[in-house]
Amino acid sequence: MSIIKIENLHATVNDKPILKGLNLQINAGEIHAIMGPNGAGKSTLSHILSGNEGYQVTEGHIIFGQDNVDLLELEAYERSLHGLFLAFQYPTEIPGLQLSIFLREAVNAHRKFQGLEPLQPMDFVKLLREKANELSISSDMLKRAVNDGFSGGEKKRFEILQLSLLNPQLAIFDETDSGLDIDALKIVSDGMNRFHHENNGMLVITHYQRLLDYVKPDFVHILSDGCIVKTGDFTLAQQLEAEGYDGLKIAS
Ligand code: ADP
Ligand code: MG
Repeated sequence: MSIIKIENLHATVNDKPILKGLNLQINAGEIHAIMGPNGAGKSTLSHILSGNEGYQVTEGHIIFGQDNVDLLELEAYERSLHGLFLAFQYPTEIPGLQLSIFLREAVNAHRKFQGLEPLQPMDFVKLLREKANELSISSDMLKRAVNDGFSGGEKKRFEILQLSLLNPQLAIFDETDSGLDIDALKIVSDGMNRFHHENNGMLVITHYQRLLDYVKPDFVHILSDGCIVKTGDFTLAQQLEAEGYDGLKIAS
């Protein structure tokens, strides 16, 4: 079963062509990694998928989810309701909005969309504590405002907490590993592995092979100048680490 099918995607930023005919299909149960040199268009792809309005699609289609919706027709919040989750490289701060309230609103919006009753505050707190415990997130942290003064590692833990509460069909991680020390990397990768199951998909965008030692992809794609120029299994990431883009004859 296909979770996402991207066909001949062309996109521009400020009229500059960035994506130039990208094709990618992720099926249920699969983990795909996208690697590639700086400026290849990796983050542009994640912005397009999340519905960021600063990026224009000029050609192509994206079919998403169990109900085969046309993703590009949906607003960003609708994409989330349909089961797309994007962990940003730099999550935004929302000062004044308590994290547990933010999460409850998000969970209940998704439940409403699925035709389910909202979780009552006590039931939500129970669920939240259970998930937070699994991720070693303290109850003190849950009382703080969203990302307000969070350390790099805390932001990542919060993202994984969101992920485990929302249980999306597709989770996209854009360089979520950058700047993490080894302990934080372990927490994030454990969370990703715990999330992953046979009915969802993951797209892991990373500049380095390191994360892929912990979260093993079924497919590794190399993005260069707006196109996927090479696809392989996890050994392609190792080869890239050893030989570099030059060694693989990919322009960087
Ligand atoms: P990657 O994530 O692979 O490093 P990006 O998708 O961030 O690459 O960037 C691809 C290209 O698009 C780069 O040349 C970058 O300068 C350009 N770009 C990205 N975002 C913007 C923007 N908001 N305004 C202008 N150019 C941009
Ligand atoms: Mg990027």
